[in-house]
Amino acid sequence: MRRQTFQKRCAGFGPVRIPATYIVYCMLNCMKMSEHPKPRIVIVGAGFGGIELAKALRGAPAEVLLIDRNNYHNFQPLMYQVATGGLEPDSIAYPVRRIFRRYPNVSCRMAEVGRVDWECNRLFTSIGTIAYDYLILATGSQTNYYNFESVKDRLLTLKGLPDALNIRSYVYQNLEKAIANYSGEPLEEIMNVAIVGGGPAGIELAGALAEMKRHVIPKDFPDLDTRKMSINLYQAGDRVLNAMSAEASEKALAYLQEMGVNVMLNARVASYEADEVLLEDGTRFPTDTVLWTAGVKAASPEGLPAACQRQGGRFGVDSFNRVEGLDRVFAIGDVASCETKENPRGLPMLAPVAQQQGRHLARNLKALLAEKPMEPFVYKDRGAMATVGRGRAVVDLPRWNLQGSFAWFIWMGVHIYSLVGFRNKLAALYHWAFNYLSYDRPLGLIIRPYRRNERGGAESGDPV
Ligand SMILES: Cc1cc2nc3c(=O)[nH]c(=O)nc-3n(C[C@H](O)[C@H](O)[C@H](O)COP(=O)(O)OP(=O)(O)OC[C@H]3O[C@@H](n4cnc5c(N)ncnc54)[C@H](O)[C@@H]3O)c2cc1C
Repeated sequence: MRRQTFQKRCAGFGPVRIPATYIVYCMLNCMKMSEHPKPRIVIVGAGFGGIELAKALRGAPAEVLLIDRNNYHNFQPLMYQVATGGLEPDSIAYPVRRIFRRYPNVSCRMAEVGRVDWECNRLFTSIGTIAYDYLILATGSQTNYYNFESVKDRLLTLKGLPDALNIRSYVYQNLEKAIANYSGEPLEEIMNVAIVGGGPAGIELAGALAEMKRHVIPKDFPDLDTRKMSINLYQAGDRVLNAMSAEASEKALAYLQEMGVNVMLNARVASYEADEVLLEDGTRFPTDTVLWTAGVKAASPEGLPAACQRQGGRFGVDSFNRVEGLDRVFAIGDVASCETKENPRGLPMLAPVAQQQGRHLARNLKALLAEKPMEPFVYKDRGAMATVGRGRAVVDLPRWNLQGSFAWFIWMGVHIYSLVGFRNKLAALYHWAFNYLSYDRPLGLIIRPYRRNERGGAESGDPV
């Protein structure tokens, strides 16, 4: 009886029977698709720029599709804390879908975007071809190894959360190796750390490692002679933090030196061979841990005309963040080179630049959809900051430059406020309070051992 009722509701050809309701549903869906009532804005990259843009497009008369190769947003400025066991990765990462739960016009896809076909308004991705009416590239940047490309598999970098976990595992693995002393390698080679690059990532890593050496290793590895561990920071220029004020650079250098970091200025690394860093002046440093923070280049998908590309692979954009010469393609954040009188080589690659561009572009896209004129983007520089270990930071504000513990509290407040998600804010605050009071870093777990692959790509997850 039930079967007969079902067959009555079905239409079909020969042996294949399809429920009539399903056919009606498909027809309605096709009509909806062919009507294509709302323009589709596709955003590639759920980083600082992409997230701000998608949030600000809430309620816009457009269908917004946010694509990222990861299903989480990563708060990069605190990655060094994950790398040195101060925070867990889930304190600085947040699921993208959860951010947009209450945004009916925003949907998310986890996919790798390979190429843009700007002439046909479509993207080639790991989950198929995606059409757009307006495309926004917010793909950020990637590590630039310069002429160290051939040895990149032997360097550790800090660009994504897997990188931070690799550093954490490798440092702790080496400490275990050193205390067991089974490999016969000289202790210095296993324990020494070289950091290449004196920007914020380099100095923050150096400060956190110096604290580990002073406060954590003697407690966790009491038999290890920490005097055999040197932390060397190599900076090709004549000051660290060269994008900040001279005061901030001097103070950061003094903090690092007080903490026992050997900071080498005007020190250009010439090669890294046989676990030895060689400088241009012939100095050598034995280490199998080289943390590469010396530079980044744009993470630009293929397909756009070569004429749009600037130094470091960034896309040249006009004052509306529109990729030069292309009507429907925009770029924001690290991947965009927005040249101004003050910044002739493009705005700095910083989170606030990406966020401001994201919010501004949302207003311009809404104007575009309403057939109103767009407004040019003007960057408001509200300052920069970096921390060098416990209770020490340097902060450059538009009117004042601050250093020391007050600056550190400002640094902490700004970072807690900027983290996405209440749970993450609370977790970071709890861990920092614990670290501050106990002089400890509680999270040195080797969950997934990391092994440098001497011949091919770096492998994670293999036995040490
Ligand atoms: C270690 C470190 C420390 C930093 N510290 C600071 C700091 O203290 N202050 C500061 O202002 N800035 C800092 N920065 C820089 C800041 O993080 C960047 O300027 C900012 O993230 C740029 O934002 P964005 O939106 O352009 O790109 P991102 O935030 O990098 O986001 C890009 C997104 O695009 C995705 N993506 C890339 N390519 C593809 C693809 N082909 N397909 C799919 N998805 C893709 C990525 O997965 C990523 O989620 C730091 C950066 C690093 C690495």
